[in-house]
Amino acid sequence: MAEKKSSKSKGIKLAADFPNLYKECSKADIKAAMDFAEDYKSFLDISKTEREFVKNSLDACKELGFVDIDSKKTLKAGDKVYKSVKGKGFACAVIGVEPCANGYNILGAHVDSPRLDLKPNPLYEDHETVYFKTHYYGGIKKYQWTTIPLAVHGVVFTKDGKEHEICVGENNDDPVFYITDLLPHLGNEQMGKKASEFIPAEDLNVVIGGIPVRDNKDSKEPYKEAILKILNEKYGIVEKDFVSAEIEIVPAAKARDVGFDRSYIAAYGHDDKVCAYPALMSLLAQEKPKRTCVTLLTDKEEIGSYSNSGAQSVIYENFLMELLAKNEGGIDKFNMLTFRKAMENTKMLSTDVTTGYDPKYASVYESRNTAFMSHGIKIEKYTGARGKSGSSEANGDFVAQITDIFAKNSIPWQTGELGKIDAGGGGTISAYMAKTGMDVVDCGVPVWSMHAPVELISKIDLYYLYLAYKAFIENIR
Ligand code: MN
Ligand code: MN
Repeated sequence: MAEKKSSKSKGIKLAADFPNLYKECSKADIKAAMDFAEDYKSFLDISKTEREFVKNSLDACKELGFVDIDSKKTLKAGDKVYKSVKGKGFACAVIGVEPCANGYNILGAHVDSPRLDLKPNPLYEDHETVYFKTHYYGGIKKYQWTTIPLAVHGVVFTKDGKEHEICVGENNDDPVFYITDLLPHLGNEQMGKKASEFIPAEDLNVVIGGIPVRDNKDSKEPYKEAILKILNEKYGIVEKDFVSAEIEIVPAAKARDVGFDRSYIAAYGHDDKVCAYPALMSLLAQEKPKRTCVTLLTDKEEIGSYSNSGAQSVIYENFLMELLAKNEGGIDKFNMLTFRKAMENTKMLSTDVTTGYDPKYASVYESRNTAFMSHGIKIEKYTGARGKSGSSEANGDFVAQITDIFAKNSIPWQTGELGKIDAGGGGTISAYMAKTGMDVVDCGVPVWSMHAPVELISKIDLYYLYLAYKAFIENIR
C-alpha cells in the first residue's frame, strides 16, 4: 500500500511550504541568478544616490530607443517613453496594444536610501581639522556610520545656473572620508549609554582635511581655508554655494559577494535599489505588451515620500495622465473621468524590500509570518504598525490574481509581515498609490541589516524578483 501523504488531497497540495530556493531550483537557475547579480552589482556601484540611479536609468532607456514623453504628440502600441522627475525620480513606459484607458500595469520602487546629508553650512575647523557637519537622512543606527570609509556624492548649483557634480571616494586612488569614534580605553562612560544615544546626531561630523594654507599668515582658519581653496579649484564653488547643494555622504564600499559560495551580496542601498533595478529591467524587456507597462522610481521614500520627487508628488500622476491623453490622440483629448477609471483598473506592485528572518534576533520575528532569505520574493499584504496603522492593505482578490500568475509562471514566493506585532513597523509608497484607486500590494525581497551602511541580500531572491516582476507586468489585468 502506498504511503498516504497527509499534505496531498487528490493531487492538490493542501499545506503551504516555502522552500529554500538554493535547495530546490535547478543548477541553471542558480547560474542565471549569479549572472544577473553581476549586472546588478555593476549598476549599483555607479548608482548610489537617487540622482545617479535616475541618470543611469535614463541612459539605459535611451539606449533602447525610449524618448522623452514631451517629444511625442501621440502614443501608440510599442512606443517607449520616459520622464525625469526633477532628476531624482523617474517614470518610464512601454505603450500596450490595449488603450491606456483600460488601466496600467505598474512597478514602483524608490531609489533613495538612508545616508548622511550635508547641512546647508557644513564646513568648519576645529583644533586643526576640517569637518563637514551632516544631518542624517532616513532611519539609521547612528553608531554604524563611524569608523568606515565614506564617499561624497552630489551636486552643487551655483548662481550662474551651472550644476557642478562631485563624486569622491569611489575610485581606488580617491581619498575617502571618515567619522571618528572613541577608543575603548576611554569609553567607560560612552559604553554605558543607550545605543541610540552614544553617537549623538550632531557628532556625525566627517573629517575632510588637515593641511593648512601656508601663504596667509593672518588666516584665522587656515585649515578650512585650504579646503575651500581645493573645492574652488576643483569644482568652482565657494562656501555659500553649499546652501544650494545636494551632497550625500555614503559608504565608499562597492557591492561584494558574500560567502565561500557567493550566495549573498553585501552593498550599500539594497533598500530599495534591489527592487528598483529589476523593476527597471523588466520594463526594458517589454516590446509591445498587452497593457501599457510603467515603472516608477521615486525619491524621498525614506523620509515620507514628500516633495515634488517623492511618491506623493502629482508629477508621477501627470505622467500617467499624459500617457492616456497622448494614447487617446493628443493632450486636448484628455478626459479626467476616463483617467480616474483607468486608475481604478490599474494594477501595481509596490516593489520594496522587507526584512529577512535573522536567527540571531529571533525574538522580534514571528517565524510563521516572516520572509526567509533565499526563499524567494515576499508578497506583503499589509505593512503598518500598531494594528496595521498606516497600512495600505491589498485586496484579497488582487493578491489571488498575483499568486495565480506566479504559479503559472513557476515563480516561487513567500509571505509574511515585517516582524512581530508591536515590535515596530514601517511603510512604503503603496498607500499613496492606492489613493488613486489602483490595486497595489508590496512585493520585494528580504534584506538582512536593513538601513545599515552595508546591507545583505540573497542572489537567488534577486533573480526570482526579476522573473516575478516581468511575469506581473506581462500578465496582470
Ligand atoms: Mn524601502
Ligand atoms: Mn527603507
